[in-house]
Amino acid sequence: MNTHMDRRLHHESVQRALDLGRSADPEALEEMIGLLRTQSAEVRRLAASGIGKLAGFGADPQSAVRALAPIALRDPHPQARQYALKALKAYGATGKSHLNDLDDLASNDQVKDYVRRAAHSAAEAIREAIRLERENARHKCIRCGRETSAEEHTKSQQAFQRTYCDPCFDEIFLARRNFETKVELNKQITAKAGTLVQSDGERKIADWLSSHNIAYRYDERYRILNGHAIRPDFYLPELDVYIEYWGMDTADYKIGMLKKQQLYQQEGKRLISIHPPEKPRLDTILRQKLALFGYNLPPAPGSGVGFGER
Ligand SMILES: [Zn+2]
Repeated sequence: MNTHMDRRLHHESVQRALDLGRSADPEALEEMIGLLRTQSAEVRRLAASGIGKLAGFGADPQSAVRALAPIALRDPHPQARQYALKALKAYGATGKSHLNDLDDLASNDQVKDYVRRAAHSAAEAIREAIRLERENARHKCIRCGRETSAEEHTKSQQAFQRTYCDPCFDEIFLARRNFETKVELNKQITAKAGTLVQSDGERKIADWLSSHNIAYRYDERYRILNGHAIRPDFYLPELDVYIEYWGMDTADYKIGMLKKQQLYQQEGKRLISIHPPEKPRLDTILRQKLALFGYNLPPAPGSGVGFGER
């Protein structure tokens, strides 16, 4: 009816959409989302385009994508769709829940070619953003979540096969050293041969070795393997075999365990690993593992010394 008024309003909205799009102000997002709901396809197209531009200035990606997706996928006006699709690209991985719809749109021959191309291009951009996001995630400190530098990543991977930032790296190192100290303090279980050990599992191993007259040295001072100071639990000098009882179950200790096992392997050392669940079958397991190194023990006598029992 009042066409003059309509035209004036339309002109104002177009101007507003253009201005907001150029504002570089993330706060403008809300008003632009409002403009996406206007009757004018031109205003919707300009608002969509402007929302895309705001991506680089910190506009909230969730709100932007939530507003853009219906325009991109369902707007009756193809150019409004095209610009909304272009704008979606700018918000990268945030648009991932719309990937299937974008793929469908890209292969829908009922819509304009340029809409299909824009949909295809948006889907590609989102996939690439997801890929980059995953790559970056691998370079975050697993302890505090902070993003790490390439050097921090490399250094901590080498030491722990994990990614830590430098402050966390130092703390883990300190915790490890404290753990070593605690090991000394924990040594209070006495094996039959008089050796002070730090756990029931180690006591059983010590007792098994002495009852089979196998000479052992327990918990010697550090040895240097390939530049790393490591301390074996048991060393059997006559057989040149090491036995490690992996009794602790904390994540940090497991990191140490992997590194330690790797070092034994690299240096060609003969290592027998015993884990807590194997404790009840210690006799069988030690026999089997020693046999692998060519050392066969006489069969266990009947009910025996009790190592095969619970
Ligand atoms: Zn950290």
